[in-house]
Amino acid sequence: MTIGDAPREGLRGGAPRDLLRLVASGAAASRADLARLSGLSPSTVSLRVEALISEGLLQETGDGKSRGGRRPRRLALPTGGALVGAIDLGAHHARLGTLDLSGRVVEVRSRPVRIEDGPEAVLGALLDEVAALAPATAPVPAQRGDGTAADALRGIGIGIPGPVQFDTGRIVSPSRMPGWNGFDVRAFCAERIDVPVVVDNDANLMALGEHRAAHPDLDHAVYVKAGTGIGAGVISGGRLHRGAQGSAGDISHCRVMADPEPLCSCGNTGCLEAVASGAALVAALREQGVPVEDLTGVMRLIEDGDRHATALARRAGRSIGEILAVVVNFFNPQVVAIGGRLADCEPLLASMRATLYERCLPLATQALLIERVVAGPDVGIMGAAQLVIDRIVDPA
Ligand SMILES: [Zn+2]
Repeated sequence: MTIGDAPREGLRGGAPRDLLRLVASGAAASRADLARLSGLSPSTVSLRVEALISEGLLQETGDGKSRGGRRPRRLALPTGGALVGAIDLGAHHARLGTLDLSGRVVEVRSRPVRIEDGPEAVLGALLDEVAALAPATAPVPAQRGDGTAADALRGIGIGIPGPVQFDTGRIVSPSRMPGWNGFDVRAFCAERIDVPVVVDNDANLMALGEHRAAHPDLDHAVYVKAGTGIGAGVISGGRLHRGAQGSAGDISHCRVMADPEPLCSCGNTGCLEAVASGAALVAALREQGVPVEDLTGVMRLIEDGDRHATALARRAGRSIGEILAVVVNFFNPQVVAIGGRLADCEPLLASMRATLYERCLPLATQALLIERVVAGPDVGIMGAAQLVIDRIVDPA
């Protein structure tokens, strides 16, 4: 290739699939957005958009926001009654629902879950429920006419609160999930339902959902999920970065300064999860003789200004900040956002933020956004749907 021949393509690439992905992720909604994000000329973008429309992969409508003149045309994935199923499994609750290909939530439900009942019972019931939602919630009548879920359902995205080997859909050494180690989620689902199933960990789902909802135009972001456990998802170059096996972003067993060093479920001591997770706060308070049942109880104590609980929350925030400082110095993201139930804990957030500013290079923090996840309780199912939409857009 001669220098000067190559189109000036942006960080996110300018191939037709790249353009499709920019629309599917919510980063681009018009030809102008695509030209800006890809670095391609407007005429090249138009040629590629026309080709994608004629292949039936994109649609263009005239319902963009008008600023007085002709209404601009808006690009979207063709929905046409197609739905995506989504399951966001947590330690005690699952959220499930259906979304259309534009990422809009069509229906959503919450269910209590007993993770110790094992994967067959828990996932079996959730899969059946999502499949049953699809025909009842399809926005237009199903094409085939026999009313089966497969008419409307194009795939199901599932989030698991533990490490997932992404290529195989297998769970590997999860904490607090007895009976789930080595379970092949994808094979189990394939026997029960005839649509593609994509499985990932819950922090990656949160990253996908929040990135799309809050900052689809930013290329580098880190999203921390701090609830019963702790994890993180990484967006690099506008896309989720999973690494070689799918464990990228898993900060739960990084070692932090702690005295004494609590024993972690992995067998090591001083892991972030053993110091700063919701489960760790519950355990530490009980050890101090404070009768607390669960994370809800801990949050209530902190709101009431209990000094033991508040001190532990500050320590947790410092520990998360220590690890995030390494991540920020190494990766230089534009935004670090924290979600999960501990994101509502003000003392934790304040000490995390202070530690980040203290321990990071000025160049890394001068324009860094440090914020709460804003996408709300549906962020996980939005991310689960995005897993499937990404697969539809780019089957490879
Ligand atoms: Zn550990």
